[in-house]
Amino acid sequence: MKVGIIGTGMVGSATAYALVLRGAASEIVLVDHDPALAQAQAEDIAHAVPFVHPCQVRAGDYDALEGAGVIVIAAGVPQKPGEDRLSLLGRNAEVFADVIAHTNRVAREAILLIASNPVDIMTEVALRASGLPAGRVFGSGTVLDTARFRMLLGSHLNIAAESVHAYVLGEHGDSEVLAWSTARAGSEALTDFADQIGNPVTEAVRARVDEAVRRAAYKIIEGKGATWYGIGAGLARIVQAIRDDQRAVLTVSKVMEDFDGVKDVALSLPRVVGAAGIVETLQPQLTFSERKALRASAETLRETALQLA
Ligand code: ADP
Repeated sequence: MKVGIIGTGMVGSATAYALVLRGAASEIVLVDHDPALAQAQAEDIAHAVPFVHPCQVRAGDYDALEGAGVIVIAAGVPQKPGEDRLSLLGRNAEVFADVIAHTNRVAREAILLIASNPVDIMTEVALRASGLPAGRVFGSGTVLDTARFRMLLGSHLNIAAESVHAYVLGEHGDSEVLAWSTARAGSEALTDFADQIGNPVTEAVRARVDEAVRRAAYKIIEGKGATWYGIGAGLARIVQAIRDDQRAVLTVSKVMEDFDGVKDVALSLPRVVGAAGIVETLQPQLTFSERKALRASAETLRETALQLA
Protein backbone atom coordinates (compact mmCIF):
# COMPACT_ATOMS: atom_id res chain seq x y z
CA MET A 1 0.00 0.00 0.00
CA LYS A 2 1.13 3.50 -0.75
CA VAL A 3 1.29 5.69 2.36
CA GLY A 4 1.58 9.46 2.27
CA ILE A 5 3.06 11.46 5.13
CA ILE A 6 2.45 15.19 5.25
CA GLY A 7 4.78 17.00 7.63
CA THR A 8 8.17 15.38 7.78
CA GLY A 9 9.50 16.82 11.02
CA MET A 10 10.24 14.57 13.96
CA VAL A 11 6.89 12.76 14.13
CA GLY A 12 6.39 12.39 10.38
CA SER A 13 9.92 11.08 9.80
CA ALA A 14 9.74 8.70 12.80
CA THR A 15 6.50 7.34 11.35
CA ALA A 16 8.08 6.76 7.95
CA TYR A 17 11.03 5.04 9.60
CA ALA A 18 8.75 2.83 11.72
CA LEU A 19 6.73 1.93 8.61
CA VAL A 20 9.92 0.85 6.85
CA LEU A 21 11.12 -1.23 9.82
CA ARG A 22 7.71 -2.93 10.18
CA GLY A 23 7.39 -3.54 6.45
CA ALA A 24 3.98 -1.88 6.65
CA ALA A 25 4.06 -0.02 3.31
CA SER A 26 5.24 -0.75 -0.23
CA GLU A 27 5.66 2.92 -1.05
CA ILE A 28 6.02 6.00 1.17
CA VAL A 29 5.71 9.54 -0.15
CA LEU A 30 6.93 12.35 2.09
CA VAL A 31 5.46 15.82 1.60
CA ASP A 32 6.46 18.95 3.50
CA HIS A 33 6.11 22.68 3.26
CA ASP A 34 9.90 22.55 3.20
CA PRO A 35 10.70 20.30 0.18
CA ALA A 36 14.41 20.14 1.01
CA LEU A 37 13.55 18.66 4.42
CA ALA A 38 11.20 16.08 2.87
CA GLN A 39 13.89 15.15 0.34
CA ALA A 40 16.58 14.75 3.00
CA GLN A 41 14.30 12.65 5.23
CA ALA A 42 13.31 10.45 2.27
CA GLU A 43 16.93 9.79 1.35
CA ASP A 44 17.98 9.07 4.92
CA ILE A 45 15.05 6.70 5.53
CA ALA A 46 15.46 5.02 2.13
CA HIS A 47 18.97 4.04 3.20
CA ALA A 48 17.44 1.84 5.92
CA VAL A 49 15.47 -0.16 3.33
CA PRO A 50 18.29 -2.53 2.26
CA PHE A 51 18.55 -3.67 5.90
CA VAL A 52 14.85 -4.41 6.34
CA HIS A 53 11.87 -4.74 3.97
CA PRO A 54 11.49 -3.67 0.34
CA CYS A 55 9.81 -0.26 0.12
CA GLN A 56 10.07 2.74 -2.17
CA VAL A 57 10.62 5.89 -0.11
CA ARG A 58 10.56 9.25 -1.86
CA ALA A 59 9.73 12.90 -1.39
CA GLY A 60 7.07 14.45 -3.55
CA ASP A 61 4.52 17.19 -4.01
CA TYR A 62 0.83 16.76 -3.29
CA ASP A 63 0.15 15.24 -6.71
CA ALA A 64 2.47 12.37 -5.77
CA LEU A 65 -0.07 11.33 -3.09
CA GLU A 66 -2.52 10.15 -5.72
CA GLY A 67 -3.48 6.53 -5.07
CA ALA A 68 -2.39 6.53 -1.40
CA GLY A 69 -4.40 4.22 0.86
CA VAL A 70 -3.54 6.17 4.01
CA ILE A 71 -2.21 9.68 4.50
CA VAL A 72 -0.67 10.48 7.86
CA ILE A 73 -0.92 14.18 8.70
CA ALA A 74 1.87 15.25 11.04
CA ALA A 75 2.18 18.85 9.82
CA GLY A 76 2.19 21.70 12.26
CA VAL A 77 3.86 24.91 13.32
CA PRO A 78 5.96 25.37 16.46
CA GLN A 79 4.71 27.50 19.35
CA LYS A 80 6.02 31.08 19.20
CA PRO A 81 7.58 32.45 22.41
CA GLY A 82 4.74 33.66 24.65
CA GLU A 83 2.05 32.33 22.32
CA ASP A 84 -1.01 30.85 24.05
CA ARG A 85 -2.39 27.42 23.28
CA LEU A 86 -5.46 28.70 21.47
CA SER A 87 -3.52 30.92 19.12
CA LEU A 88 -1.20 28.01 18.29
CA LEU A 89 -4.25 25.86 17.69
CA GLY A 90 -5.67 28.48 15.34
CA ARG A 91 -2.46 28.52 13.32
CA ASN A 92 -2.40 24.72 13.15
CA ALA A 93 -6.03 24.73 12.00
CA GLU A 94 -4.90 27.00 9.13
CA VAL A 95 -2.14 24.50 8.26
CA PHE A 96 -4.77 21.76 8.19
CA ALA A 97 -7.09 23.81 5.95
CA ASP A 98 -4.20 24.12 3.48
CA VAL A 99 -3.14 20.45 3.74
CA ILE A 100 -6.66 19.02 3.46
CA ALA A 101 -7.59 21.20 0.48
CA HIS A 102 -4.73 19.36 -1.27
CA THR A 103 -5.63 15.85 -0.06
CA ASN A 104 -9.28 16.47 -1.07
CA ARG A 105 -8.08 17.27 -4.56
CA VAL A 106 -5.62 14.41 -5.10
CA ALA A 107 -6.53 11.57 -2.74
CA ARG A 108 -10.17 11.58 -1.67
CA GLU A 109 -10.17 7.81 -1.38
CA ALA A 110 -7.36 7.80 1.22
CA ILE A 111 -7.93 7.32 4.94
CA LEU A 112 -6.61 10.37 6.82
CA LEU A 113 -4.69 9.48 9.95
CA ILE A 114 -4.15 12.54 12.12
CA ALA A 115 -1.02 12.81 14.25
CA SER A 116 -0.62 16.55 14.91
CA ASN A 117 -1.42 17.71 18.44
CA PRO A 118 -3.72 18.37 20.14
CA VAL A 119 -4.71 15.30 18.19
CA ASP A 120 -8.39 15.09 19.20
CA ILE A 121 -9.05 18.69 18.21
CA MET A 122 -7.04 18.36 14.99
CA THR A 123 -9.08 15.27 14.13
CA GLU A 124 -12.24 17.35 14.37
CA VAL A 125 -10.68 20.08 12.24
CA ALA A 126 -9.64 17.49 9.65
CA LEU A 127 -13.05 15.85 9.58
CA ARG A 128 -14.79 19.16 8.99
CA ALA A 129 -12.32 20.28 6.31
CA SER A 130 -12.36 16.95 4.45
CA GLY A 131 -16.07 16.22 4.41
CA LEU A 132 -15.18 12.50 4.58
CA PRO A 133 -17.02 10.01 6.83
CA ALA A 134 -15.74 10.02 10.44
CA GLY A 135 -14.58 6.41 10.19
CA ARG A 136 -12.06 7.47 7.55
CA VAL A 137 -10.61 10.54 9.32
CA PHE A 138 -9.27 9.60 12.70
CA GLY A 139 -6.46 10.41 15.08
CA SER A 140 -3.74 8.41 16.81
CA GLY A 141 -5.56 9.40 20.02
CA THR A 142 -4.46 7.45 23.07
CA VAL A 143 -2.71 4.64 21.18
CA LEU A 144 0.58 5.70 22.74
CA ASP A 145 -0.87 6.27 26.22
CA THR A 146 -2.37 2.78 26.05
CA ALA A 147 1.04 1.38 25.10
CA ARG A 148 2.67 3.18 28.02
CA PHE A 149 -0.02 1.86 30.39
CA ARG A 150 0.49 -1.71 29.18
CA MET A 151 4.25 -1.41 29.40
CA LEU A 152 4.13 -0.25 33.02
CA LEU A 153 1.57 -2.89 34.03
CA GLY A 154 3.60 -5.56 32.24
CA SER A 155 6.67 -4.52 34.15
CA HIS A 156 4.79 -4.56 37.49
CA LEU A 157 3.50 -8.09 36.75
CA ASN A 158 6.74 -9.19 35.09
CA ILE A 159 4.94 -10.23 31.89
CA ALA A 160 5.04 -8.98 28.28
CA ALA A 161 3.15 -5.77 27.59
CA GLU A 162 1.42 -7.69 24.76
CA SER A 163 -0.22 -9.94 27.38
CA VAL A 164 -1.74 -6.95 29.17
CA HIS A 165 -5.15 -5.79 27.91
CA ALA A 166 -5.76 -2.34 29.25
CA TYR A 167 -6.84 0.94 27.69
CA VAL A 168 -6.38 4.64 28.14
CA LEU A 169 -9.54 6.47 27.02
CA GLY A 170 -10.71 10.02 26.33
CA GLU A 171 -8.41 12.91 25.54
CA HIS A 172 -4.82 12.32 24.46
CA GLY A 173 -3.70 14.71 27.18
CA ASP A 174 -4.16 15.72 30.79
CA SER A 175 -7.77 14.60 31.20
CA GLU A 176 -7.22 11.07 29.82
CA VAL A 177 -8.69 8.15 31.77
CA LEU A 178 -6.82 4.97 32.64
CA ALA A 179 -9.48 2.25 32.58
CA TRP A 180 -8.23 0.23 35.54
CA SER A 181 -11.46 -1.64 36.15
CA THR A 182 -11.42 -3.37 32.74
CA ALA A 183 -7.68 -4.18 32.72
CA ARG A 184 -6.75 -7.83 32.24
CA ALA A 185 -3.51 -9.79 32.32
CA GLY A 186 -3.79 -12.81 30.07
CA SER A 187 -7.43 -13.77 30.63
CA GLU A 188 -7.44 -12.82 34.33
CA ALA A 189 -8.62 -9.61 35.93
CA LEU A 190 -5.51 -7.51 36.50
CA THR A 191 -5.92 -7.49 40.28
CA ASP A 192 -6.45 -11.29 40.44
CA PHE A 193 -3.32 -11.91 38.38
CA ALA A 194 -1.34 -9.48 40.53
CA ASP A 195 -2.57 -11.15 43.75
CA GLN A 196 -1.77 -14.63 42.39
CA ILE A 197 1.85 -13.71 41.79
CA GLY A 198 2.10 -11.91 45.13
CA ASN A 199 2.58 -8.49 43.58
CA PRO A 200 -0.72 -6.71 44.31
CA VAL A 201 -1.87 -3.54 42.62
CA THR A 202 -1.92 -1.33 45.70
CA GLU A 203 -3.11 2.27 45.78
CA ALA A 204 0.54 3.32 45.66
CA VAL A 205 1.12 1.23 42.50
CA ARG A 206 -1.96 2.73 40.86
CA ALA A 207 -0.89 6.24 41.71
CA ARG A 208 2.63 5.63 40.40
CA VAL A 209 1.42 4.11 37.11
CA ASP A 210 -1.24 6.77 36.62
CA GLU A 211 1.30 9.53 37.12
CA ALA A 212 3.88 7.85 34.86
CA VAL A 213 1.38 7.42 31.99
CA ARG A 214 -0.10 10.89 32.35
CA ARG A 215 3.25 12.67 32.71
CA ALA A 216 5.23 10.54 30.23
CA ALA A 217 5.34 13.13 27.45
CA TYR A 218 6.21 15.98 29.83
CA LYS A 219 9.13 14.00 31.20
CA ILE A 220 10.50 13.20 27.75
CA ILE A 221 10.04 16.79 26.61
CA GLU A 222 12.11 17.96 29.59
CA GLY A 223 14.95 15.77 28.42
CA LYS A 224 14.82 16.11 24.62
CA GLY A 225 12.31 18.79 23.69
CA ALA A 226 9.68 16.58 22.03
CA THR A 227 8.58 12.97 21.59
CA TRP A 228 8.62 11.07 18.32
CA TYR A 229 9.73 7.40 18.41
CA GLY A 230 6.81 6.05 20.44
CA ILE A 231 4.18 7.88 18.41
CA GLY A 232 5.92 6.98 15.14
CA ALA A 233 5.67 3.29 16.05
CA GLY A 234 2.05 3.75 17.12
CA LEU A 235 1.12 5.38 13.82
CA ALA A 236 2.86 2.61 11.87
CA ARG A 237 0.88 0.07 13.92
CA ILE A 238 -2.38 1.76 12.92
CA VAL A 239 -1.35 1.89 9.24
CA GLN A 240 -0.60 -1.83 9.33
CA ALA A 241 -4.05 -2.59 10.79
CA ILE A 242 -5.56 -0.71 7.84
CA ARG A 243 -3.29 -2.20 5.18
CA ASP A 244 -3.84 -5.80 6.29
CA ASP A 245 -7.51 -5.31 7.22
CA GLN A 246 -6.57 -6.65 10.66
CA ARG A 247 -9.66 -5.42 12.50
CA ALA A 248 -7.34 -4.71 15.43
CA VAL A 249 -8.76 -3.10 18.57
CA LEU A 250 -6.91 0.20 19.03
CA THR A 251 -7.67 3.33 21.05
CA VAL A 252 -7.87 5.81 18.19
CA SER A 253 -9.71 9.13 18.25
CA LYS A 254 -12.85 9.66 16.20
CA VAL A 255 -15.47 12.38 16.09
CA MET A 256 -18.72 11.17 17.68
CA GLU A 257 -22.05 12.92 17.24
CA ASP A 258 -22.76 12.22 20.89
CA PHE A 259 -20.68 10.81 23.68
CA ASP A 260 -22.59 10.46 26.95
CA GLY A 261 -24.51 13.65 26.16
CA VAL A 262 -21.49 15.62 24.87
CA LYS A 263 -22.06 16.55 21.22
CA ASP A 264 -19.61 16.44 18.32
CA VAL A 265 -16.49 15.50 20.19
CA ALA A 266 -13.42 13.52 19.11
CA LEU A 267 -11.95 11.20 21.73
CA SER A 268 -10.45 7.75 22.08
CA LEU A 269 -12.34 4.55 22.83
CA PRO A 270 -11.35 1.01 21.88
CA ARG A 271 -12.24 0.80 18.19
CA VAL A 272 -11.95 -1.89 15.54
CA VAL A 273 -9.61 -0.73 12.76
CA GLY A 274 -9.44 -2.38 9.35
CA ALA A 275 -9.22 -1.61 5.64
CA ALA A 276 -12.31 0.59 5.72
CA GLY A 277 -10.95 2.60 8.66
CA ILE A 278 -12.83 2.51 11.98
CA VAL A 279 -15.49 -0.17 11.61
CA GLU A 280 -16.72 -0.48 15.22
CA THR A 281 -16.52 1.45 18.48
CA LEU A 282 -16.64 -0.44 21.77
CA GLN A 283 -18.28 1.00 24.89
CA PRO A 284 -16.24 -0.32 27.85
CA GLN A 285 -18.12 -1.23 31.04
CA LEU A 286 -16.57 1.35 33.36
CA THR A 287 -17.05 2.08 37.04
CA PHE A 288 -19.06 5.15 38.02
CA SER A 289 -15.95 7.22 38.72
CA GLU A 290 -14.19 6.18 35.50
CA ARG A 291 -17.27 7.04 33.49
CA LYS A 292 -17.53 10.40 35.24
CA ALA A 293 -13.88 11.12 34.46
CA LEU A 294 -14.39 10.13 30.83
CA ARG A 295 -17.38 12.42 30.49
CA ALA A 296 -15.33 15.25 32.03
CA SER A 297 -12.58 14.53 29.49
CA ALA A 298 -15.14 14.78 26.67
CA GLU A 299 -16.40 18.08 28.08
CA THR A 300 -12.86 19.48 28.26
CA LEU A 301 -12.33 18.58 24.61
CA ARG A 302 -15.66 20.03 23.58
CA GLU A 303 -14.89 23.33 25.31
CA THR A 304 -11.55 23.64 23.52
CA ALA A 305 -13.12 22.84 20.16
CA LEU A 306 -15.83 25.47 20.73
CA GLN A 307 -13.20 28.10 21.58
CA LEU A 308 -11.52 27.39 18.26
CA ALA A 309 -14.75 27.49 16.22
P1 ADP B 1 6.71 17.42 15.24
O1 ADP B 1 7.67 17.29 16.37
O2 ADP B 1 5.26 17.44 15.67
O3 ADP B 1 6.94 16.45 14.13
P2 ADP B 1 8.00 19.40 13.59
O4 ADP B 1 8.02 20.89 13.75
O5 ADP B 1 9.26 18.61 13.73
O6 ADP B 1 6.91 18.89 14.64
O7 ADP B 1 7.33 19.01 12.18
C1 ADP B 1 6.23 19.65 11.63
C2 ADP B 1 6.44 19.70 10.12
O8 ADP B 1 5.25 20.21 9.49
C3 ADP B 1 7.59 20.62 9.68
O9 ADP B 1 8.51 19.89 8.92
C4 ADP B 1 6.91 21.72 8.85
O10 ADP B 1 7.68 22.14 7.73
C5 ADP B 1 5.66 20.98 8.37
N1 ADP B 1 4.59 21.90 7.94
C6 ADP B 1 4.17 23.05 8.53
N2 ADP B 1 3.18 23.63 7.80
C7 ADP B 1 2.95 22.82 6.74
C8 ADP B 1 2.05 22.85 5.64
N3 ADP B 1 1.16 23.85 5.49
N4 ADP B 1 2.14 21.87 4.73
C9 ADP B 1 3.02 20.85 4.88
N5 ADP B 1 3.88 20.75 5.89
C10 ADP B 1 3.86 21.72 6.83
